[in-house]
Amino acid sequence: MRSKAAADRNTADGSPPGTEEDGVWRVPDGPVGVAVLGSTGSVGTQTLDVIAHHPDRFRVVALVAGRNTARLAEQAAQFRPELIGADPSAPAVSGLGDRVLPADEALLAAATLPSAEIVVVATTGHAAILPTFHAIQAGKTVALANKETIVCAGELVMAEARARGVAVRPVDSEHSAIWQALGRAGTDEVTRLILTASGGPFRETPADALARVTVAEALAHPTWSMGGKITVDSATLMNKGLEVIEARWLFDLPLDRIEVLVHPESIVHSLVEFADASQIAQLSLPDMRLPIQYALTWPEHAASPCRRLDLAAVGTLRFAPPDPIRFPALRLAREAGEAGRTFPTVLSAADEVAVDAFLSGRLGFVGIADLVARILELHRPDGPLSFASIAEADVWARRTAKTLLPGSTG
Ligand code: NDP
Repeated sequence: MRSKAAADRNTADGSPPGTEEDGVWRVPDGPVGVAVLGSTGSVGTQTLDVIAHHPDRFRVVALVAGRNTARLAEQAAQFRPELIGADPSAPAVSGLGDRVLPADEALLAAATLPSAEIVVVATTGHAAILPTFHAIQAGKTVALANKETIVCAGELVMAEARARGVAVRPVDSEHSAIWQALGRAGTDEVTRLILTASGGPFRETPADALARVTVAEALAHPTWSMGGKITVDSATLMNKGLEVIEARWLFDLPLDRIEVLVHPESIVHSLVEFADASQIAQLSLPDMRLPIQYALTWPEHAASPCRRLDLAAVGTLRFAPPDPIRFPALRLAREAGEAGRTFPTVLSAADEVAVDAFLSGRLGFVGIADLVARILELHRPDGPLSFASIAEADVWARRTAKTLLPGSTG
């Protein structure tokens, strides 16, 4: 058992993990149990890499993935979790045995597993929205990579987290940078959050050439290695727009105090400007293992295998405002964020359909933002925001976006 003082160091908002019994704070001894949702993806595998470097501090208690059962079996053999989940229609592989839960059931079970103190949410899409909410209700610390959870349901999820004093620790490098720069400052001390963006592979591509860029070019991100969807979103700057909406809810600041700055080197991961005009930034070489690790070890900056930044070797750091004409997705995201309710869900769902269509050759690069804009125009939100209205808006946006794809028969 750890002391309350030690426990206090483990939550972002000062509320300790564990439970109070007879006036004594009880936190399990030994390595902290971590459930990894989306373990076979880019963030998931890097999370396991971080955990493998700290076997004395963390143990994997649950692994949930989708269709990559071959990788899941390798992970299960290495980490021996209590709970494993996968898409039931994924190929069966030896090594997983017959104790694999269907993914939807497993996401919920892993998010609320008694032995999980931290739940890392690194699935793509909407599947983890409700499991994340349940993890918060169960008092788990959430290390959140999944964008849709906060973009679509940030208002509901963060209200629940604040009401219960549960920490939602950002995993995304930009939000981690803001979280680190903020320290213990209150929002009344903050004038602006400044999210940096690499600008993606088309940062300097002329507007008329954007219509002809290929999938391979869009997937060739200049500084980060990530999953396909988020890489295309980085090329359109939709990813930055989604991050602006996320920052709004994660840090409880209005959208007009959240700005975007193009920074091609991806070394300054974001900045906070305070009332006294000082700006505090977090810098490092681009490596997702660093923000992932910080979300696990907060408030400690523990040893990591990440390469050190040598600013003298880098020499020059460049900054520029984003181009709203060539990258309209940023404006669309901001408008959807301002409109609130289910508009961010519609933005995100339509973007997912559009990116899929781009990746499969059905839609050109410029068509991604055009399709999203069209779906946002057509959207008529119904009632106040709820998980049900989010699910409905998601289904509507996907169905409508598909009917508007080139070649669709409606
Ligand atoms: P990937 O596509 O690489 O991985 C997604 C993971 O989620 C895979 O393990 C996949 O399983 C699993 N998955 C997808 N759907 C389901 C489902 N319904 N049930 C269970 N598991 C599911 O994505 P990334 O790791 O790149 O991104 C994950 C999230 O984090 C996204 O929301 C992204 O925007 C965000 N993010 C990513 C960053 C990055 O550096 N990659 C940075 C910041 C945020 P399988 O592969 O087995 O099918």
